[in-house]
Amino acid sequence: MAKKYAMIIDLHQCVGCGACDLACKSENNTPEGINWAHHFTEMSGTFPKVTYKHVPTLCNHCEDAPCVRVCPTLAMHYGKDGLVTHDPSICIGCKSCMLADPYGVISYNPKDAFSDYTSDTSVAIKGGSFSKKELSDRTNAPFPNFNAARGANDYEAIRGKGAVEKCTFCDHRVEKGLAPACVVACPADARIFGDMNDAKSEVATILAANKPTVLLPEKGTKPKVFYVGNYSQGSYNR
Ligand code: SF4
Ligand code: SF4
Repeated sequence: MAKKYAMIIDLHQCVGCGACDLACKSENNTPEGINWAHHFTEMSGTFPKVTYKHVPTLCNHCEDAPCVRVCPTLAMHYGKDGLVTHDPSICIGCKSCMLADPYGVISYNPKDAFSDYTSDTSVAIKGGSFSKKELSDRTNAPFPNFNAARGANDYEAIRGKGAVEKCTFCDHRVEKGLAPACVVACPADARIFGDMNDAKSEVATILAANKPTVLLPEKGTKPKVFYVGNYSQGSYNR
């Protein structure tokens, strides 16, 4: 059977630290203002009986993805093993996918993500004394914290302006047998990634033992990011 990758986020385990958000940024070279991994928070109740909920979000790699359906160039498409992937080289930046995506997880690049540090002699940090070029020369890197390994599968390590981008489930890592960066970075072991078509996988086992929820089920998109547990005390099966 073909693989179908999915992610479970255990809200009972999640401590809301944001390590996943940061790990995603540094793994995927996303520019300022663009976050493939994000979260929302909800507070309910009246003081002192207040419940706080932190919910990490990312592309759900929907099985019936509206973003794929509306893309006029097939830039947004179904990739290998159940992933929804994007080809920036044929994206015309029309933003139809962003309008169709009910989850708001697609971002548009209005400008080049980073200036070229190898030739930019402007100051690197406002009020500082060294230039971007000097920083690049001394660290032997085109950009600070640049992850060249992101550039795999014909996908640019840094995407240019005028195209959209979103979470890829770290396909460049998954194909090497590694888990997505957010999964590895989570100190609370709240993210579980794997093949939901493999009945023996941890993902399949947890899905079978719980009543997982998805975001906006009424949209009928069949998300493959599932949530189990909740932030309050209680028993559940993991
Ligand atoms: S979550 Fe949004 S961007 Fe991701 S596959 Fe579903 S509709 Fe497309
Ligand atoms: S912005 Fe790009 S990916 Fe999105 S619908 Fe338009 S061409 Fe397709």
